[in-house]
Amino acid sequence: MTEHPMRRVVIAGGGTAGWMAAAAIARTMGSRIDLTLVESDAIGTVGVGESTIPPMITFNRLLGINEAEFMRETQATFKLGILFDDWKVRGESYFHSFGITGKDHWSAGFQHFWLHGLTKGHDQPYDDYCLELRAALQGKFAHLPDERMSYAYQLDSTRYAKYLRGMAEADGTRRLEGKIAQVELNGESGDIAALVLESGARIEGDLFLDCTGFRALLIEGALHAGFDDWTHYLPCDSAIAIQTESVRPALPYTRAMAHDAGWQWRIPLQHRTGNGLVFCSRYLDRDAALDRLLGNIEGKTLTEPNVIRFVTGARRQQWHRNCIAIGLSGGFMEPLESTSIHLIQRAVLRLLRLFPSGAVSPRDVAEFNDQQHTDMLQIRDFLILHYKATARRDSAFWRHCAAMPIPESLEQKIELFRETGRVFRKNEELFAENSWVQVMLGQGIVPQSYHPIATKLRDEELARLLGGLRENTNATVAGLPEHAAYVARYCATA
Ligand code: FAD
Repeated sequence: MTEHPMRRVVIAGGGTAGWMAAAAIARTMGSRIDLTLVESDAIGTVGVGESTIPPMITFNRLLGINEAEFMRETQATFKLGILFDDWKVRGESYFHSFGITGKDHWSAGFQHFWLHGLTKGHDQPYDDYCLELRAALQGKFAHLPDERMSYAYQLDSTRYAKYLRGMAEADGTRRLEGKIAQVELNGESGDIAALVLESGARIEGDLFLDCTGFRALLIEGALHAGFDDWTHYLPCDSAIAIQTESVRPALPYTRAMAHDAGWQWRIPLQHRTGNGLVFCSRYLDRDAALDRLLGNIEGKTLTEPNVIRFVTGARRQQWHRNCIAIGLSGGFMEPLESTSIHLIQRAVLRLLRLFPSGAVSPRDVAEFNDQQHTDMLQIRDFLILHYKATARRDSAFWRHCAAMPIPESLEQKIELFRETGRVFRKNEELFAENSWVQVMLGQGIVPQSYHPIATKLRDEELARLLGGLRENTNATVAGLPEHAAYVARYCATA
């Protein structure tokens, strides 16, 4: 076999993105690839990103990671979903769980049967039919047979990057420490030829992954791929993060508490709690945001506040010439539904699927960009939903959100659900039907009708269906152990 023409892969940046890419490429492509990662200790990483979603389990399995060891090393806890406080109106909460609610029929989602049940006096909330949701709110967790409990992790992403670095280096990745001073282009092709470090060292490559975070040193700095700004849909542009001591046993969910110009996260890990305030600087200045955050955290602070400015949007071409943007260099949407690390994972797996077999093919590039862009647009719509569908009018920020124009695709989804209770998943969308139903109901969108198939059930059949599902859920939750104790026992098995 001839030497692979894309043999030399260079990763610029060693945050979560850089090391996820390195670990996955080194593990799957092995010695066919000569892999080098450059990172700068002086620059450091963005230092946030703690809440994840279930597909991360697949990524870790692909790498052959032992879950208990990974959880111990990253001080991770299990996550069953997100509790949203004060989003619809102040004083009300709802939960977006990772589970399935009730049981779907071939023709219609469970929400139709639940809606019909309401008209027959079965007035228990939609939440009562979801195992993950009920377990989360009672602070319980266990691995169940047949993976019946859908979960993700809350983790220390700096530790995760370090853990992956160990794996990637063991699999042959060469790591260089140093600041990239120049990105050298090939005068003829316009492709990236090499990275030149401040020390003068020159790293040549065939394929370059830009994992330099918000700096986007290669994809934008050198190749000018362009950026679509989405601030008109998602107006928050700043965050302040701070870590605190834990004051209670870790809960298996992330909390997203709306305030009058954004929201605040609380993410319980084993060894500490991650906190942060996301806000729109047009409506809240930095000092007031910091006061608000400090006034609403629990426990002693462990770090200085980390202030981060960002522009919501996406790189126009995530793959341009022989460079692929992975992580924050490819774009960013606020962490409301914990989707950034997931987008890194999607990009890495997508690259592996489309790995060039010779010179970079424009067809592969177009496919990669189209798929990645579709993912981002779908996530964008889902995030906008949380802001748009609100009954809050108590601040200029919320009045702005309620009045702002939204994409046609989201309008269609909301209005279809409002009119008929229907929601559909298209193009392998990350957030499936039940995610949309939970958030739409939680934000106060009530369907005006439902699928006629639900009325086909006789009253006693409907009562048996709904009652049975609730009893099942209650019985399973009653038998689950307390989450924090379970995590401690589980990590000890590693
Ligand atoms: P970085 O971590 O910034 O890494 C960039 C790397 O490039 C570093 O190693 C740096 O040293 C290197 N570098 C840069 N310039 C140079 C240079 N000139 N020379 C050499 N090296 C260089 N995601 C989630 O999934 N869940 C969350 O809960 C979540 N919360 C977030 C909260 C906030 C406020 C923000 C801003 C992001 C959040 N994210 C979250 C996103 C998540 O933090 C990132 O997706 C993830 O950390 C990946 O970052 P990165 O590796 O792309 O960039």
